[in-house]
Order: sequence, then structure tokens, then C-alpha cells
Amino acid sequence: VVQVRAVTKTFRSLDGRRRTAVDDVSFTLAAGEALGLVGESGSGKSTTARLVLAEFEPDAGSVLLDGEPWSGPRERDRRARRSRIQLVDQDPLGSFDPRFTVEQVIAEALGPGAPVNGSEGGRPEAPGSGVRGGRPFGSGAGARRERVVELLAAVGLDAGFLVRGPARLSGGQRQRVAIARALAPGPEVLVCDEPVSALDVTVQAQILALLARLRREAGLSLLFISHDLGVVRQVCDRVAVMKDGAIVEIGEVDAVFRAPRHPYTAALLAAVP
Ligand code: ATP
Ligand code: MG
Repeated sequence: VVQVRAVTKTFRSLDGRRRTAVDDVSFTLAAGEALGLVGESGSGKSTTARLVLAEFEPDAGSVLLDGEPWSGPRERDRRARRSRIQLVDQDPLGSFDPRFTVEQVIAEALGPGAPVNGSEGGRPEAPGSGVRGGRPFGSGAGARRERVVELLAAVGLDAGFLVRGPARLSGGQRQRVAIARALAPGPEVLVCDEPVSALDVTVQAQILALLARLRREAGLSLLFISHDLGVVRQVCDRVAVMKDGAIVEIGEVDAVFRAPRHPYTAALLAAVP
């Protein structure tokens, strides 16, 4: 689905020097695949995520979606593509307007007048996808609410949560709402940047199980960033190890963790008790 080709991104630091955050990074995320991204703090994981999300342009290289470059000439193309890749990060509350209810937060992500499912893009539906829907959808308020209730159900929350404010949710519930919101535009890819790092271990397990189920049922692909190698091992098929902005090793999770080829990967693994 997503091809990252020789992407480089530099930032100007305070002293005016340019620092390379992402250095000639290439990888492919296949349909339905979960690819982990690990590496120490500052190694370029979040910057890579933001390049995949098209939050900004790379200095060099390109990100392709189904073989097509991200930034088309028309803003409409970019928006349509953007709805296909959604972010779930560590602090979902941070992006919620505290005056909103859960219903408003999710309904807003459905878009104005909300043809659900990015019908703009006209892409084919995954068969049997309960979450991404695929049935015709009216534009009335009742139909919108019904869709929000459906999305809540997909993340394991009942309709009683519609009227809650974000401040009255537990951390795990907030993360579920954040995932429901991310699912609203009908994405094929979820970029998860430390999605469970702020949660306690029991709740972590619940959210990871939810992501695993969405992957199975909705055929979602995951780009999964975590500093927790145990979590990556549990969730991901393949893993890419980043150091100083570059990928030093990429392969099947089991193979990489059992027999790392790069000394940095070995050091990373050895650091885990
Ligand atoms: P962490 O595990 O701490 O989240 P990370 O692997 O996600 O780290 P990035 O956030 O991608 O790392 O940062 C990579 C490098 O780019 C760091 O040196 C960081 O300081 C720098 N950087 C990231 N964003 C910006 C920005 N907007 N402006 C300037 N420098 C930035
Ligand atoms: Mg980060």
C-alpha cells in the first residue's frame, strides 16, 4: 500500500545548522501488514511517521500510495489520500477540544455532510469490512449518529459514551475514542506512534487486542512505533530498526529479535531486561 522511497528530512536547529532527522529511509508497508518501527529517542521514528502521513514534504525521496505520489497537484487529491492514512498517537486528549462530546469528536472526523468511507477517492472496499462500512449512507443527522455509534461499537464502547466529554474518560477509553475517530474517514493504514505508552499494562493489552482485531476485521495496515520491543513483537509482522535517522535493519520480527544482524539491534535487545 505505502512505499517510502529514499526519503530524507532535515530540520534547522537553533544554532542554524541543519540536522538530518530522517536519512535516506526506504520501506514498504503491504496491505494488512503490521510494520514496527523501533529505535532510541531522537532516531527519527515520529518524523518518518509524519512523512508517511504527509504532514510535511520530504527534502528528497517520495512516499507513494498504491504507486502514486502523495502530493498531487490538487488539494482535493491530497485530502482524499490523506483520509486513507490516519494517526493514533500517545496523547489523544491533546487533540480533543475539551468542549466537545465524544459524538462531536468522532462526527467531525466523518467530514462535512459526510459521505462515509472516503467515497471521494472511489477506492474499492475491503470485503466484509464491518468497520469501513461500505453500505450506502444518507446525509441526515440520524444517519450520522448511527455511523458514530457503529464506530464506537467497533472500538468496544456503547452509545452511552456519545454525550461524554473527553475529560470524563479514562485513558483507555480516550484511546478507544481516538481510534474510533481515526477510523471515521475509512482509512486503510493506521500510523500508531507510541499508542499505548501512556497506558497501564492491563489497558495496554486491551488496546493492542483492539488494534489486532481491527487489522483482522478491517484489513488495516499498521505502521507501529513503540519503544517497547515486547509490544512490537506481539503486534508486528516485520520490524525496522532506526538509528540516527536511518534504518539499520529490517526484517521479520521473529528473525530480527532472535538473530539480529546489526550490532545496534543486538544492543537494543540486550538493554531489555
Ligand atoms: P522519540 O522516541 O523520542 O519520540 P523519535 O525517534 O520519534 O524520538 P523524532 O521525533 O523523529 O524522533 O526526531 C528525530 C530528530 O529530529 C530529533 O533530533 C529531533 O530533535 C528532530 N526534530 C523532530 N521534529 C523537529 C522539528 N519540528 N524541528 C526541528 N527538529 C525536529
Ligand atoms: Mg517520537
